[in-house]
Amino acid sequence: MANRFSTTGRPRSEALYQEALKHIVGGVNSPSRSFKAVGGGAPVFMKRGQGAYFWDEDGNRYIDYLAAYGPIILGHAHPRVTAAICRAAENGTLYGTPTELEIEFARMIKAAIPSLDKVRFVNSGTEAVMTTIRVARAYTGRNKIIKFAGCYHGHSDLVLVAAGSGPSTLGIPDSAGIPISIANEVITVPYNSVEALEAALERWGDEIAAVMVEPIVGNFGMVMPKPGFLEALCAAARRNGSLVIYDEVITAFRFHYGAAQTFDGLEAQSLGCIGEQVIKSPTSPGCMGEQVMKSPASLGDTGEQVSSTSLGCTGEQATKPPAGFAAIEPDLTALGKIIGGGLPIGAYGGRKEIMEQVAPLGPAYQAGTMAGNPASISAGIACLQALQEPGLYDRLDRLAAGLEAGLADAAREHGIALTINRIRGSLSTHFCAHPVSNYEEAQDTDGEQFARFFRLMLDQGVCLAPSKYEAWFLTSAHTDEDISATVEAAERAFAAMAL
Ligand code: PLP
Repeated sequence: MANRFSTTGRPRSEALYQEALKHIVGGVNSPSRSFKAVGGGAPVFMKRGQGAYFWDEDGNRYIDYLAAYGPIILGHAHPRVTAAICRAAENGTLYGTPTELEIEFARMIKAAIPSLDKVRFVNSGTEAVMTTIRVARAYTGRNKIIKFAGCYHGHSDLVLVAAGSGPSTLGIPDSAGIPISIANEVITVPYNSVEALEAALERWGDEIAAVMVEPIVGNFGMVMPKPGFLEALCAAARRNGSLVIYDEVITAFRFHYGAAQTFDGLEAQSLGCIGEQVIKSPTSPGCMGEQVMKSPASLGDTGEQVSSTSLGCTGEQATKPPAGFAAIEPDLTALGKIIGGGLPIGAYGGRKEIMEQVAPLGPAYQAGTMAGNPASISAGIACLQALQEPGLYDRLDRLAAGLEAGLADAAREHGIALTINRIRGSLSTHFCAHPVSNYEEAQDTDGEQFARFFRLMLDQGVCLAPSKYEAWFLTSAHTDEDISATVEAAERAFAAMAL
């Protein structure tokens, strides 16, 4: 694999890993950083990040598509974000009092996501999601939640529960230490199945406080909701008196300046209109070619119904949501990742009367010593300001389209079955010959092939997340040259895999 991109090996990472194992459990501070899912061994210990690259402890440079699992949409050490963090640090990092900065940031987020009448800042996506559930329970007086298989919502007890078998099941804990009594408060159904959701609502109806969903999935690859799915979900939940919680920890500010709930691509689906193509998913060399979802040329367009060979419309007629609600608007939203500009953050928010359940106004308690700290808030403001640069998201879309096309061509050329799901500047690669629209389909892909690909790419200086389920994230720092170099590396990787 000798070429101009090859790394020179990673002896220092190996040594640091052995040392880390003595002091840090598993050698890593988050299990997703370990290489367990890609054959084991030492993860790469990074030393420095700048723009689209980072450098490991051995001096190897990598093109970064991990983007720290999403937050680093502007690339590493973006000057505007760095300056904001330095300014904040110079003025003291934590006061334990309110600041004007928090108001400014809350205003910015509310302006971008109108379903948020009120917000509260916390320290992580996990905290944000966990609290939305508490608030939903407080508001409805009900205990159970419905979630979708394969959607990850952080590591709090209730959402670390996966499906058993069957279309809708009571959850079984995904982790030791979660009592069955808690898992019994969670019902898991397959993503993109309105039928399974309705069956669960029918079965556990007046016990369901909320239906929790990643409106666009980022945790078993990038997966779009089927046309009509979110609309039907919202309508079914509301008919049942349950709240709708969107986990937008990955998706907010990912595809455009706003959230998935305000993304044209989704509104297009709920309206059943067509027009220009914005979202493509998936490309499966060796199986089904390209499949395209379309967005409306204009609202109210009554063009042909969106349909596809794999992510087809459910054909269901959803009931109208209550007046004043967009058809796919949630009651509560959880945020994180990008909104912190690379520093720890989370936020949740929603309708005024629901948010007023939260202390000090209401009986649902939530607090945080570090919540709303000036460094995170300053980084978040700077990040959102930078994301308002005209054309930034279109550029990410264009770069990712080039990457998708290059990867698909290379896979096809070497007879590798690969499904690529791409949504604007993020994509996922699934080693399989079928489309991926739910967790079961994402599981039914070749993990060993992914592991091989991952390592071949890493050894050529292209860093992906070490899991077949994780997405590739483009950043505003990536260039056409980075995309070309990545496609060249993938060509060599596929050639080696085809041998
Ligand atoms: N929700 C989603 C959709 C996520 O992808 C994640 C993390 O990957 C979380 C919640 C948890 O966020 P955090 O890791 O900041 O606690």
